[in-house]
Amino acid sequence: MKITVSKDKILDLKDKVLTKIIDFRIEKLSRLGNKALAGIGIGILGVVIVCSAVVFSGVDDTAEEPLPSAMVAGAAEEETIQCYSIHINGNRIVTLANEEDAKAVLDNIVAHYQTEGSEVIDVSYDETVEIIETEEINPDIMTVSDAVSLIITGTKEPKTYVVEEGDCLWDIAIINGMNVDDLIAANPQADPDHLKIGTVLNLFELKPYVHLKLVEQIDTTEKIEYGIKYEDTDTLYKGEAKVKIAGEYGQRQVKKEIVKENGIIISTQELETKVISEPKDQVMVRGTKPLSTLVGTGSFVKPMSHLEISSSFGASRGGRRHTGVDLRNPKGTPIKVVDDGVVTFVGYRGTYGNMVIVSHGNGIETRYAHCDTMSVSIGDVVKKGDQIATVGNTGRATGYHLHFEVRKNGVPQNPMNYL
Ligand SMILES: [Zn+2]
Repeated sequence: MKITVSKDKILDLKDKVLTKIIDFRIEKLSRLGNKALAGIGIGILGVVIVCSAVVFSGVDDTAEEPLPSAMVAGAAEEETIQCYSIHINGNRIVTLANEEDAKAVLDNIVAHYQTEGSEVIDVSYDETVEIIETEEINPDIMTVSDAVSLIITGTKEPKTYVVEEGDCLWDIAIINGMNVDDLIAANPQADPDHLKIGTVLNLFELKPYVHLKLVEQIDTTEKIEYGIKYEDTDTLYKGEAKVKIAGEYGQRQVKKEIVKENGIIISTQELETKVISEPKDQVMVRGTKPLSTLVGTGSFVKPMSHLEISSSFGASRGGRRHTGVDLRNPKGTPIKVVDDGVVTFVGYRGTYGNMVIVSHGNGIETRYAHCDTMSVSIGDVVKKGDQIATVGNTGRATGYHLHFEVRKNGVPQNPMNYL
């Protein structure tokens, strides 16, 4: 266990007003076993309570020194209130009404960063954190939650924003008069690329007064990945595979030690692990039949459920003939492959934009152009009706449509004769 207050510090404080220092928790903890120790909230462990009422013993013999005259005079003439302040690196940061509140602030700071269900093993601050009893005229007393918030965020009025559907960091930053980098810095736990609806974002520069290192242990169960075994079959084409027996995840129990600094995990270590159930291999059958023998059924399905021709096959295109048919549909409409085949091209090609080409054997190929997204790779075996892409307007396209082409031995055919 780490005590954050050094002896020098104690002497330094004592010189001002104080006459007794009690490390109440450490005294108490020393009588407890390790197990009990973890359970009572060690948040305060690193903190020394400084108290003005009793004579300090054990540092040196200057304890009988008279109080500074200002304090004596103040106490005599004005009504003062006894209160408890939390000092960080010697500076008073917050003042609480009583000792319980002051302790609660420190416990709640630990709780703020603690992983749910974890056991706290050690707590330490980079800073010197002390609870000091004082008597003050008109002290600025804070509530426990305000004090916690101030120490954690560095600001008295932490403005926040709840992410709504369609929000992006850029917009949130602009609307709130911040720049994006500051907004990201203020939210170290949020993933800027994947904002979740309902996430509460801090709209201020995060300048915590403390840097809390928390060592926790946590028991979790995790799945164990299963292996995959392959069996060859000539009933499927090369590149095709099917599940014969589904794999099953195993399960293991893990005890982990996690070290966090202000909530950010900086290291994780597995202390113990016990297998609860072993995973079971998945068995796959894998095709060996050569793709060159793959032949489509010869009958096509429609590439999209709604067919609306915006430009016909053979239409004049500045002296050239339209090599396919343009089928209008909104962006993102799924495009299906019209017959079984093998994907022979996926990529961007000039005026076609994003295009998928599928070979169906017997010299027949189909082309799907101006796609927005494409979800197949070269060599994939596709089955009639599989989605391979979505409608876009990439390449030379006016508006969202699928340019659908059928070629026989390289010669464009009228696709409508096949649909
Ligand atoms: Zn076209």
